[in-house]
Amino acid sequence: MSSNNKKWYSLKNINSLKKKESHSCDCTDNLEGCNSHSMPVKKSSEVKKDGFDQVFDVKMDRRSAFKKLTASLLIGAGAVTTSCSMVAGDERKEKAQIDWEEQFKGNYKLMTNEEKEATVNRLVKSYQLRTGKNISMSHKNADEDVLFGYAFNISKCQGYMDCVSACIEENNQDRKSQMQYIRIHEMKDGNGFNFNESDDNYYHEVPAEGHFYMGTQCFHCDNPPCVEVCPVQATWRDKDGLVVIDYDWCVGCRYCMAACPYDGRRFNWATPEVPVEEVNKKQHYLGNRMRKKGVMEKCTFCVQRSREGKNPACVEACPTGSRIFGNLLDPNSTIRWVLENKKVFRLKEDLGTEPKFWYFMD
Ligand code: SF4
Ligand code: SF4
Repeated sequence: MSSNNKKWYSLKNINSLKKKESHSCDCTDNLEGCNSHSMPVKKSSEVKKDGFDQVFDVKMDRRSAFKKLTASLLIGAGAVTTSCSMVAGDERKEKAQIDWEEQFKGNYKLMTNEEKEATVNRLVKSYQLRTGKNISMSHKNADEDVLFGYAFNISKCQGYMDCVSACIEENNQDRKSQMQYIRIHEMKDGNGFNFNESDDNYYHEVPAEGHFYMGTQCFHCDNPPCVEVCPVQATWRDKDGLVVIDYDWCVGCRYCMAACPYDGRRFNWATPEVPVEEVNKKQHYLGNRMRKKGVMEKCTFCVQRSREGKNPACVEACPTGSRIFGNLLDPNSTIRWVLENKKVFRLKEDLGTEPKFWYFMD
């Protein structure tokens, strides 16, 4: 190694994890909190039909309806398997009821805060029944006076990829497929920002002589084409600028992936595998909660952290200070200072997507 600031690129957490045993895991903002939805705002006095009501059109409250349904199903199942067990255990009943309620829940974007709370509680309970472990899951909505933005200092990045590793750990990304929301592109000096000739899968000593590095991820566009094309409104832009996905509403069509001009989305082809002891237990419904197979994922600027006033994990992990994150509406924030004092630019500005991710050099 030629100098002290050089090191070998390695996704250390992934490589070490490969040797360990893995376990399979599976598994908003309401209308007034979303700037991008095109659905009419429902008045609180209106009776709102959720998935259950729409399907069964039954006049009873949702919880009692589910209880009745679950009970009948269990009785039915019990009649068939009388010889094995006369009465279903309380835990089994609870799990069956949770599963039923999950089947018929509505789109998170359209839920009231009470419905969000109930949904999150169900998911926490379900995880506990499945694994015996506890997690906490937030459903914190966007704050009024916040608009998140991100800046990347090209002069400082050395290609270490500590941000990539931190992102994987923070967001409970699948260890087997090595899904990465962040890409670091190694580019040749003097060649401009040529993504076609860049290498985002290098494995050698960095920084490499005659090269520079640029990170990309979801840019949380103000005018996101990925949102426009979603046929089921499973993805939307929240009012703090975060473009999020309801994993349980996503049907996996991948239209959004095709529409994104920045390679910001990742499709999950298999049930994400994260060893139970490594699951990040501080989760957000729209962020790092455990996903199931066949849904879209992407960077959320670590919604579980950013909505709690913290930096995303990539910003915290970067050893060179290349990454800057903050509230664009706060005139005293570092991100505002960068935008006002550096020569910044954004990728493919001519598309009108208005990404909230700027690049600059010292
Ligand atoms: Fe959507 Fe891509 Fe923009 Fe992210 S970068 S908001 S995925 S269009
Ligand atoms: Fe919407 Fe999911 Fe299809 Fe993307 S993959 S367009 S989020 S349903």
